[in-house]
Amino acid sequence: MQGQVAGDDAGGAGSPSRRRESSAAARLVRGPIIVGAGPSGLAVAATLSRHAVPFTVLERSDGIADLWTNRTYDRLRLHLPKVFCELPHARFPADFPTYPTKHDFLRYLRSYAARFAVAPLFGRTVTCARYDAEASLWRVTAVSSSSTAAGGGAAAETTTETEYVSPWLVVASGENAEVVVPTVKGRERFGGEVLHSSTYRSGERFKGMRVLVVGCGNSGMEMCLDLCEHGAMPFMSVRSGVHVLPREMFGASTFGIAMKLLRWLPIKMVDRLLLLVARMVLGDTEKHGLRRPKLGPLEIKNVTGKSPVLDVGAWSFIKSGNIKIVPEVESFTGSNGVRFVNGDEMAFDSVIFATGYRSNVPCWLKDDGELFTEDGKAKAEQPSDDDRWRGPNGLYRVGFSGQGLLGAGADALRAAADIAGRWQAEVAAAVAGAKVSSASV
Ligand SMILES: Cc1cc2nc3c(=O)[nH]c(=O)nc-3n(C[C@H](O)[C@H](O)[C@H](O)COP(=O)(O)OP(=O)(O)OC[C@H]3O[C@@H](n4cnc5c(N)ncnc54)[C@H](O)[C@@H]3O)c2cc1C
Repeated sequence: MQGQVAGDDAGGAGSPSRRRESSAAARLVRGPIIVGAGPSGLAVAATLSRHAVPFTVLERSDGIADLWTNRTYDRLRLHLPKVFCELPHARFPADFPTYPTKHDFLRYLRSYAARFAVAPLFGRTVTCARYDAEASLWRVTAVSSSSTAAGGGAAAETTTETEYVSPWLVVASGENAEVVVPTVKGRERFGGEVLHSSTYRSGERFKGMRVLVVGCGNSGMEMCLDLCEHGAMPFMSVRSGVHVLPREMFGASTFGIAMKLLRWLPIKMVDRLLLLVARMVLGDTEKHGLRRPKLGPLEIKNVTGKSPVLDVGAWSFIKSGNIKIVPEVESFTGSNGVRFVNGDEMAFDSVIFATGYRSNVPCWLKDDGELFTEDGKAKAEQPSDDDRWRGPNGLYRVGFSGQGLLGAGADALRAAADIAGRWQAEVAAAVAGAKVSSASV
């Protein structure tokens, strides 16, 4: 099985049958351009709004928070307690549960956007952003599509390209912009349904079916649980080690406990304590096919970005054998057959790839100022931690710290404050210039 990505065309535009138009002039926007209207983009925009700095948000989908609205399963709740997931300047409502549902979270985001008057330009997919050093401006190309009735009643799609221009560019397109689906030998032979977790909603329609879930992260584990609860027979394919931790320890959130312990103890020691309690609460996960990695749960997150699984109920189904652990997939062998790397073969009705997402930044950001790696992740070796959110030439990176919503909020505050300082300096210079020229008339 080889890793491969889907959705390489961040633009998704330009099919030969479509008509492409370019708008006549570039639009010089007031304030920064923000790419993406997910939680990160909204947090920067809201903070700029509080600094009275105008901004333009370009979002490819037709609403805010596309990931949460269109690419998540029904039973999803925030994995971390709500206090760790709030965006700047707005608490979650007191009546929200500790772990808000995705619907709660979307309600919160919608009211957040309304409260801070964030009105993104929807249906604008950014396909290119380059720095024009001569003009000291970012030139950002966005593609939008519209359908118009053509002769014979058929609809014709017109694609419009517009260039937005600004001295500042905020990259907030997310670490999860495109789905990752591995290439598996013999895929064309498989007759059952094959899908990615981004299109899975509920286990209801899989009742009575044998379903192979490939991947054992939080999504893979939770879908297996959901499938069990809907009367399906899930098998979870596990390639490498995984840390499963109880979501709560001693009645408090495991994440919260870890954050507190990190203030006093070195990371290795905190990892040892977490694993000790996990062993007491869950037992030996290796006995049931889930090998723990050599590095501890916090250390591995720091080094590789891989999050530990916070168990919300799947573990007891693994122990009882209702969720079966199987090895890495080697190939599809026929209309319903799958072969694993240990040579075993099994039959399945459906296969769900819970194989994650990737950033699409390399597809469109041309002058990344060394803020990003080749695969669009945050570059680690920045001069200092405090500079991780800012590049040269008015470039900012928000939501790429690998620290979820908590990290996105912190990035947003720093980026917006920095832009506000520059904006106010420009406004002051313009006012001073206007005074000089009116005095000299
Ligand atoms: C199933 C799941 C559960 C999660 N649970 C949690 C949790 O409990 N707590 C937590 O902290 N984190 C969680 N995360 C991580 C989560 O992705 C982030 O915390 C959060 O969504 C990041 O927000 P973002 O705005 O940076 O990225 P996104 O939410 O991905 O938003 C990026 C936006 O940019 C838009 N975009 C992308 N490319 C372009 C382009 N070229 N042009 C224009 N627009 C573009 C997208 O359409 C999207 O709206 C979870 C992730 C998943 C997949």
